Amino acid sequence: MDKLKELADLMFPNVTKTIEDYEKMYPERNLSDGARVTRFAPSPTGFVHMGSLLSAFEDFKAAKDTNGVFYLRIEDTDQKRSVENGIVGILNDLKNFDIIPDEGMIDEENSIGEYGPYIQSERMEIYHTFCKDLVLCGLAYPCFCTPSELDEIREIQELNKERIGYYGSFAKCRSLTVDEAIEKIKNGEDFVVRLKSPGDFNNKITLHDEVRGDIEFPENDLDIVLIKSTDKLPTYHFAHLVDDHLMRTTHVMRGEEWIASYPIHAQLFEIFNFKKPNYAHLGLVMKIDEEGTRRKLSKRKDKEASVEFYHKEGIPTEAVKLYLMTIANSNFEEWLDNNPDKDLSEFKMDFKKISASGSLFDVEKLMNISKNYLSKRSAEEIYDNLLIWAEEFDLEFYNILKNNKEYAINIFNIERETEKPRKDYTSYKSIKNFVFYMFDEYFTCPLYEFMKITDKEEIELILNTYYDNYLDLSDKDTWFSKVKEMCDTLGYASNIKEYKKNPELFKGNVSDVATVLRVALTSKTNTPDLYEIMKLLGKNKIKERFTKCIESLK
Ligand code: GLU
Repeated sequence: MDKLKELADLMFPNVTKTIEDYEKMYPERNLSDGARVTRFAPSPTGFVHMGSLLSAFEDFKAAKDTNGVFYLRIEDTDQKRSVENGIVGILNDLKNFDIIPDEGMIDEENSIGEYGPYIQSERMEIYHTFCKDLVLCGLAYPCFCTPSELDEIREIQELNKERIGYYGSFAKCRSLTVDEAIEKIKNGEDFVVRLKSPGDFNNKITLHDEVRGDIEFPENDLDIVLIKSTDKLPTYHFAHLVDDHLMRTTHVMRGEEWIASYPIHAQLFEIFNFKKPNYAHLGLVMKIDEEGTRRKLSKRKDKEASVEFYHKEGIPTEAVKLYLMTIANSNFEEWLDNNPDKDLSEFKMDFKKISASGSLFDVEKLMNISKNYLSKRSAEEIYDNLLIWAEEFDLEFYNILKNNKEYAINIFNIERETEKPRKDYTSYKSIKNFVFYMFDEYFTCPLYEFMKITDKEEIELILNTYYDNYLDLSDKDTWFSKVKEMCDTLGYASNIKEYKKNPELFKGNVSDVATVLRVALTSKTNTPDLYEIMKLLGKNKIKERFTKCIESLK
């Protein structure tokens, strides 16, 4: 025992605390029954892509559904994956989607919460304390194997068709005596710290995965690395044990790539006699590409994989959240259909309804959700949010909107705030395309697309007759009866049914005439309510536009 203590002290000369000290510092959380403690644990890469946003969202939701705690832990033990200001970037992305951690890092240096530090590079002493304890019990040892020695072991295993890894008789440093190990350290030899796995590959263990159900594995017998040599930082496995235990995580939701490591994690928790968290292994976010193949959504190839894309497109975060929930839980869409006015927070996420095979990301569907969502917003809300978007991405439009607030809100209010609101805007960015003609700034050289009536003289006749004798905007009924009255005078059917019975008796019908008015005023054949448009444009502008149209036909 004394020898082991000498070895442990040599390996971890700076450890001053014990595991018990940390247990006291980070007591069990005082939460109500069933409250989940979840975490999002990214490397500080500066941004979140859609796949990790989905898992952050699921983590957040899993905690919020139960009045639990959701925290952000920065996993920076792999220095290659760290970038400058990498934490702030992640926080901003999360904030954009209202995913606000209850605890964890709040900028590059600071954190909130009682279970920190929430960044792994600042937890060295804690990892070392836990690892030292293992060395003292003879359950961890220093390994001095060089990369070429490890290659050699692998080559032998490959040659003999044996399982690859550092285990059993292949684990050379396992059999060093404590004295030998002490001597090597004293000689300044580099070492990693390995687990002395007590497992037997022939035993079976079971993971009760929240998403996938029971999965059986052979017990771990690999002497995996716990602490790396160069920087003395922990491996993922060891940090997972220490952090998720001390931060009192109840549900570890993580990518499916970690499933295979479960036997290692289960073993570590058992060795320390810690309660294992529940695990939910999440599938990848997939997409069907142009060739029709299903593949992983790629940061490099797919613009929709970056969170920035939604921001630039002006897709409301609420819509993205609804979409994320749709792909997270297969029963959400039905719930939403049945509860169109309820808030997302009222839906309870169900692990059993998370797809194990991964979620399919479908931009078209997202746009549809966005369209639905936008159709239900008030004109003022549209105005306010569009203004925020335009200030960043379309300054000209921003200024126009800013200087014409009431007019703009009235435009957005056409066929809105009714029982069956118009569904046209798919994003804030798309709105300009739907309303540009309401602003002279964008109506400089319109491309008129007439439909049935294309004869220049006939168009001129309709526009002039209408303006001179039938333009009446006092109310919608009067307005429409005037249009019909003009139709009768000019030889167009004011009644569609009659027209259908005897089309040969007429030059066309009221809708053909209305199209001429519509196109002259907006250049489009399809717009929201023409009366509302005319009322907003007002008589002067109507005159101007008719003249402009007639001119363009000459
Ligand atoms: N840093 C790990 C990753 O990004 C976290 C996995 C986990 O959630 O445990 O894959």
